[in-house]
Amino acid sequence: MQLPHLNWVNQDSPFLRQQRHGFRLLSFEGELEPAFNRYHVSVFLARMRWALLVAMLLMLLFAVLDAISLPDSVRKQTLAIRLGLILPVLFLTWWATYSRALRPHFQVIVGLCSICSGLGIVGIIWVARSQHFPLPYEGIILVTVFFYTLTGLRFVAASLCGWLIFFAYLVMEVVSGLPGEVLLYNTFFLGAANVIGSVGCYFLDYSTRQNFLAQGLLQELAEKDFLTGLLNRRAFSERAERSWRQAVREHQPLAVVMMDVDFFKRYNDHYGHAAGDEALRAVGQVIGQHGRRPLDSTARYGGEEFVGLWYGVNEASIQAILEDIRSAIEGLELAHVKSDAAPVVTLSIGMAYLHPQPHQTLEDALRLADVALYLAKEQGRNRVVGKKPGSSSD
Ligand code: GH3
Ligand code: MG
Ligand code: MG
Repeated sequence: MQLPHLNWVNQDSPFLRQQRHGFRLLSFEGELEPAFNRYHVSVFLARMRWALLVAMLLMLLFAVLDAISLPDSVRKQTLAIRLGLILPVLFLTWWATYSRALRPHFQVIVGLCSICSGLGIVGIIWVARSQHFPLPYEGIILVTVFFYTLTGLRFVAASLCGWLIFFAYLVMEVVSGLPGEVLLYNTFFLGAANVIGSVGCYFLDYSTRQNFLAQGLLQELAEKDFLTGLLNRRAFSERAERSWRQAVREHQPLAVVMMDVDFFKRYNDHYGHAAGDEALRAVGQVIGQHGRRPLDSTARYGGEEFVGLWYGVNEASIQAILEDIRSAIEGLELAHVKSDAAPVVTLSIGMAYLHPQPHQTLEDALRLADVALYLAKEQGRNRVVGKKPGSSSD
């Protein structure tokens, strides 16, 4: 899959870091691995369920074949293994795929199911050998191919299962005294099936990881501001609208906040555009650190303007949060000799604090926050000004 142009992705993106670092050992760093695990389940869930249904159906058909064609001495034990062990295990695994709580453990569950099925088939061949019935050994190849290609097992789990069953089969044939040449060919074929399966699984695992990273990068490209890593304006509007509707439903207060760097044109003119970008990155980082709860959003609204929404906070706490942001920006101590507000880069903050009503919109709140920001600028900058609907001059 062709990746998007990576220069336009925020450079702190975990997807970008991983893409640059590589993943030949099929593992991601930190939070990406559990996120990939969830992605993998969502991609392969339908395939897993279908694979298990197909396996159950085939197991039943083989049981019919056994019932018709096997001699009495072998039939009973074979059917007991097929219907008493393998079929219930397949059924329980299929059932488990409907449990959300078990999702993080699907690789282990499906892996155990594959091992049980494989060992079951080894058991059936063992029963036939012990009764001197010439049962074909290809069933074990069928199972191997099946779980490498259909079940959605990833490279490590699939290879572990495959090679474990391979050795179980080998030991069983040696113990049951299969002639040397036949044993050599059988193990060679089964070994080859495992090599093909493992290599195929490696590349499938690798390309699924590649798709996961590409999807993550595309999403960051669509939703995040590449300079600061905060949400962009469009993504902010979408999330803020969601929080707004929830606040209306649950009668929760909201703080909608506009923030603007003071005398930033002068900063750019004096220190250069690159230094300006660095300053915006630092400011964005501070703002982002103060809005991390799931229903809060912080974003770069455009240029040197930022916007934020805090959900369900009381007025005193949001005042404290915004004052923290303001003083943390001042505390960055980014020299700004051309500013009339302070000798360092500072931020003016305008807040609209309200209990959203059905007749109001997010746009109204943003306008009110803008009025508050204008007042903050007018009163000397580097300060927080709050307004509520209905208070004077909104
Ligand atoms: P005020 O205190 O009234 O907000 O004054 P100001 O100079 O900050 O306001 P103004 O809107 O006139 O200037 C904003 C400046 O922000 C203009 C532009 O040079 C700068 N700017 C906007 N976007 C970027 C950017 O992505 N990178 C850099 N380096 N500068 C930017
Ligand atoms: Mg400004
Ligand atoms: Mg501005």
